Amino acid sequence: QKERVVTEEEWLQKWETGKTGFHKEQGHPLLQKYLDVLLNGRSGLRIFFPLCGKAVEMKWLADMGHRVVGAEISEQALKEFFTERGVPYREEPVPGISGAKMLQSMSGNISLYCCSIYDLSSAIVGKFDGVWDRGALVAVNPCDRQRYASLMISLMEKSSSYLLVTVSYDPNKHKGPPFYVPETEIKSLFGKLCEIKCLEKANDFSDRHREWGLDYFLEVLYILKFVA
Ligand code: SAH
Repeated sequence: QKERVVTEEEWLQKWETGKTGFHKEQGHPLLQKYLDVLLNGRSGLRIFFPLCGKAVEMKWLADMGHRVVGAEISEQALKEFFTERGVPYREEPVPGISGAKMLQSMSGNISLYCCSIYDLSSAIVGKFDGVWDRGALVAVNPCDRQRYASLMISLMEKSSSYLLVTVSYDPNKHKGPPFYVPETEIKSLFGKLCEIKCLEKANDFSDRHREWGLDYFLEVLYILKFVA
């Protein structure tokens, strides 16, 4: 899978043609289950959703009083998020990133940047107390993983919590995305600056994975604590 590159154009096409089988309309059970680990008793957090798609969990967290920031290249995905969740929004240009927009809920607690995640920096979006990374690291092209991990670390506040969902399957049988990112690689990407703990390996095998030619598919959840 190392050499595989999915272009931004291909992602936009997936949204245009409705090939978005990764979207979970009911939200993600692992976030529900491990919400306390992410929040760690804190309230009013700033939480980042990299490569957010139209993840419904953004609405959950905003409804609990947190401030949510997302990044996504597909404007269609972001508009569908606000429309389908029934959240009124406005659009604004982003100073510092030409061509980018921010779609923000009228109440101001959900701010979704329509641009490549690599255009962001802490100068533009600030730093975060929590991260929900599902379908994000595993969607990043393998050649960009190091750059992605360095960016994510630069966006984390000290002692922030980062819930990371990866997937495990036989990478000889499916080209990805999602890409298989083994635990050894999580450690080399984040281990210098973060404590890493595996919280759960959950079976997520479905017809979709069977059609890909797989015979098992697991989701692996980690908690990363930024300690440096
Ligand atoms: N996290 C979401 C979406 C996962 S699919 C979920 O759990 O449902 C990966 C998403 O990343 C797609 O919506 C794709 O359009 C977006 N994407 C791909 N490359 C990106 C980039 N460089 N910057 C921002 N978003 C990107």
